[in-house]
Parts: sequence; C-alpha cells; structure tokens
Amino acid sequence: MLEAGTKLVVASHNAGKVREIGELLEPFGLEVISAGELGLPEPVEDGDTFAANALIKALAAAEASGFVALSDDSGLAVDALDGAPGIYSARWAGESKDFALAMRNVEEALAAKGAKTDDQRRAHFVCSLCLAKPDGTHEIYEGRVDGALVWPPRGENGFGYDPVFQCDGYDITFGEMEPDAKHAISHRANAFKKMIKAQFGG
Ligand code: IMP
Repeated sequence: MLEAGTKLVVASHNAGKVREIGELLEPFGLEVISAGELGLPEPVEDGDTFAANALIKALAAAEASGFVALSDDSGLAVDALDGAPGIYSARWAGESKDFALAMRNVEEALAAKGAKTDDQRRAHFVCSLCLAKPDGTHEIYEGRVDGALVWPPRGENGFGYDPVFQCDGYDITFGEMEPDAKHAISHRANAFKKMIKAQFGG
C-alpha cells in the first residue's frame, strides 16, 4: 500500500505524537503532512478500544483529505487501576491537556489502592496504528511496552506520561531517554515495526 513518494496524512492533532511518527517514518521517503496542517476536523473518538478509535481517526482523515492516512491511538494502562486511564489517557489531563495533572491523578489513584512496590505499580503503554485509504480499506497494527510507574516524574523528553514510565530493564524513565532510544523500544516503535514489515517487507 505504501511506497516512497506517497503522500501520507498523520491523523493526529497531538504535537508530541505527530513529531514521533514523523521521526519513525523518516527513513521511508513518504511525504508526511499532519491533519492539523491540513485543517482537518477532529472526529469524536467514541470507540471502546484503542483499535476502534484509531480506525475512526484514520478513516475520517483519509476520507476528508483524499490521501492515505495513518492514525495512532495510544495510552497508558495501569494494572492496579484495572487498565485505567487506558483509552481515556488524554482525558485524565483535563481540558488544558495538563500532563503534570494527569500524572498526579494516576499517582493519587495508585496511592488510594495502596500500591507501593514495583509489582503493585505495573503498567504498560499500548499503541494501535491504523493505515486507511480514502476508499475505506484499512489495516491495524498494535504494539505494547511493559514497565512500572515511578514517582516523582523524571525527565523533560518525550510527552504525556513519559516522565513516570520506566520500561522493564531500564533505570531511567521514557522522559529521561533520548528520542532514538525510546523509538527503539516503545509501544509505538513496536506497532511501527509491524506496519513497516507488512508495508515495505522490511
Ligand atoms: P490519544 O491521542 O487519544 O490516543 O491519547 C493518547 C494519550 O496517551 C496521549 O495524550 C498521552 O497522554 C498518552 N500516551 C500515548 N503514547 C504515549 C507515549 O509514548 N508517551 C507518553 N504518553 C503517551
């Protein structure tokens, strides 16, 4: 479906995600433009899974723009909170998209459960990517990365919940990691590898 020179719309208005997706797509010679740059409206994400929301966003952008669209629906799932904030990860940051607040909200919910040890603070990031054509055909690719939540937040890199997420096997958070290092192991990188293999055979 994808070949060098294809114009691809990144179906997101989240600057952090658009930047990471652009970096991950850089080697493939696509002409990448974001939904924000095209002034596309943001569809209502009322699916009840990451994949359903990714599909809503990619189809809306592909149909509105006439180009192939790639969406990312992702979030943080905390074991002790039965998978919350999950598909509502962005909403926990409130209207002002304040992730210091979102991280504090998660920490307070964990404290209310009495979660203290790493085992009680297990969490994972999930990423569903959807690649859709204007005719409605689409593919979904999913990735995940496991780790534990730390407090207080550490690091200025990345976005969203990165400063509280410590991936298994590391003693630094995603917020403290260089972008290239995060791109080698993240949920998004994981889903991307599956998409690149399917689309470019790489
Ligand atoms: P979405 O735009 O509805 O998919 O919201 C996903 C939310 O999950 C983002 O706003 C972030 O808060 C969080 N999230 C997803 N991926 C990452 C990541 O790589 N690092 C940190 N937070 C993430």
